[in-house]
Amino acid sequence: PDQPLMSDARRILAIANQKGGVGKTTTAINLAAALVETGRKVLLIDLDPQGNASTGLGIDADRRVKTAYDVLIADDPLRDAIQRTDLERLDIVPATVDLSSADVAMVSDKRRNRRLRDALAAAEIARDYDHVVIDCPPSLNLLTINAMGAADAVLVPLQCEFFAMEGLSQLLKTVKQVRRSLNPDLKIEGVILTMFDRRNNLSQMVAEDVRRNLGDLVYRTVIPRNVRLSEAPSYAAPITVYDSASRGSLAYRALAREFIERQALAAA
Ligand code: ADP
Ligand code: MG
Repeated sequence: PDQPLMSDARRILAIANQKGGVGKTTTAINLAAALVETGRKVLLIDLDPQGNASTGLGIDADRRVKTAYDVLIADDPLRDAIQRTDLERLDIVPATVDLSSADVAMVSDKRRNRRLRDALAAAEIARDYDHVVIDCPPSLNLLTINAMGAADAVLVPLQCEFFAMEGLSQLLKTVKQVRRSLNPDLKIEGVILTMFDRRNNLSQMVAEDVRRNLGDLVYRTVIPRNVRLSEAPSYAAPITVYDSASRGSLAYRALAREFIERQALAAA
């Protein structure tokens, strides 16, 4: 395993895109699992009321006693909501459907945009984890704002389909707003092309188009469409465990390597 990062930069990563079904949760789980394989300690925070990241890592609903909701709304210490997963060095703050009322519950709270940021700071998470990965809901709501407010950088999965770029400008606008009001140092970590199908011309065209528009912001690593990736959550395992040699597994390992490489470059 390589050394943990010397620099704090980009320790906390928000995985965001207001479109649903683009690969946010799949990326949150499997990037986290691939980082863990390199010897790093990772905390995944499930910030989607659907709780797919929690389910996908085997935290059944009846085991979600303290959750992201308690941290954001009830002011419970973040550490009380941390649970271990079956994967060594990977911990999680799970989510339940309660979280869908967070917007309403926080509406009159002056600090509503920075609840997660404050909770993470109070927990001194950097003492125990090399990375925090936040799985955002498919919306630019208060939960996603909280994730961006707490994060060092935003990672954006883009599905290789016709309207891939649509919505991206809205997402980037939100990042700018968060920078202005809440988190001036927020970076865009990059864009990851997901569900790429090399036999499909459209997939190729979309990938080229996105690269032409966004340049180096787009990761070299591309996540292929791979049925093993969609099966893994029902076995409550990341792809690196469920099918370690699958194309999906290799892709997420490559993604973790590129992420680490880019971090080292940014820190240099
Ligand atoms: P989001 O969190 O953005 O809503 P998900 O990660 O849940 O998206 O992915 C949506 C669906 O597509 C899920 O059923 C997931 O298993 C599947 N999926 C995600 N990435 C891939 C992939 N690379 N290949 C095949 N299926 C995928
Ligand atoms: Mg999701």
